[in-house]
Amino acid sequence: SIKAPPSKKTATLQVAVKCRPLTDAERRHSRHIIHVTDDKGITVLDPDLSKDYLDRVQNRTKERRYSFDHAFGPECTNADVYIKSISSTIAGVINGLNATVFAYGSTGSGKTYTMVGTHDDPGLMVLSLHTIFDLIKGDQSSDEFEVTCSYLEVYNEVIYDLLEKSSGHLELREDPEQGLVVAGLKCIKVRSADRILELLNLGNSRRKTESTEANATSSRSHAVLEIIVKRKRRKQYQSQVLRGKLALVDLAGSERASETNSGGQKLRDGANINRSLLALANCINALGKQQKKGLAYVPYRNSKLTRILKDGLSGNSQTVMVATISPADDQYHHTINTLKYADRAK
Ligand code: ADP
Ligand code: MG
Repeated sequence: SIKAPPSKKTATLQVAVKCRPLTDAERRHSRHIIHVTDDKGITVLDPDLSKDYLDRVQNRTKERRYSFDHAFGPECTNADVYIKSISSTIAGVINGLNATVFAYGSTGSGKTYTMVGTHDDPGLMVLSLHTIFDLIKGDQSSDEFEVTCSYLEVYNEVIYDLLEKSSGHLELREDPEQGLVVAGLKCIKVRSADRILELLNLGNSRRKTESTEANATSSRSHAVLEIIVKRKRRKQYQSQVLRGKLALVDLAGSERASETNSGGQKLRDGANINRSLLALANCINALGKQQKKGLAYVPYRNSKLTRILKDGLSGNSQTVMVATISPADDQYHHTINTLKYADRAK
């Protein structure tokens, strides 16, 4: 059944946290320091302070506790995350609402796994498309639907098309009818969700990555899958078109942003800081404030990514942030930075 679209006028923001399992390699040398206490709570052990004597006396004061809209532990699948925190948001998209879902976390924390997933554990991008097609199939009206997808990358403030073999730089342009568009971006009509994982994997293989350490490939790029659902209403002799847009974003690693972010002050641009990530983080902070205290200025215009996502973050849009964390003790500082950030956003 389709839920009625929410009637409130301000954007809503939900925050979910997902802790991935230790990888096989990590299991040999890392300790698991994350505990998901219930469906909302997470505690983090301070690895330095809990190593020896504190463990013995079972001093639990060295834990930091956090609470979010949803918390998911290592045993949770992407489908669990999807059902609890995303699915109700997706239902609005076939009724003309906009929504944005993004994964925020340091490199290696599980962003791509969460958004794209694998064959056995399909990610939020794939599951969302499946739902959209299921909802369309189950729709009882005589309305006609059209679903199109685009997949782009923002890297160093340049936009590339991930559905094109060798994409040039794409520009943002104001269109008098459609508003802001990425000129020349390939939009493919999709009739079922089946082929999308293939397309996503192909697109991902074209993403620009940068090796920061011998055994780690860090990604500075943001990948945005946009799904547009046009619903042509046929009522009497009039026809009306509703246009819903769902943006699913696999963000660049947050480690660079969190270095400036950990003090809790407003994020600033710096030489090596990812402009789009900082701009998005600032927008999310502003949206969080807006939700709690009423209107706040949201600085959408500060980067390519936030300009692209604006429709899906403003108005009556619904936004879900999935903060991804690693359970390993050597990721403690990244984990704390991500959780602090997510905590401020909610
Ligand atoms: P990121 O995109 O944040 O850099 P990845 O999604 O590439 O991180 O995940 C890092 C590693 O952890 C990968 O090897 C990935 O397969 C693994 N991983 C992440 N989440 C899970 C999960 N829920 N279950 C199993 N493995 C996971
Ligand atoms: Mg990734």
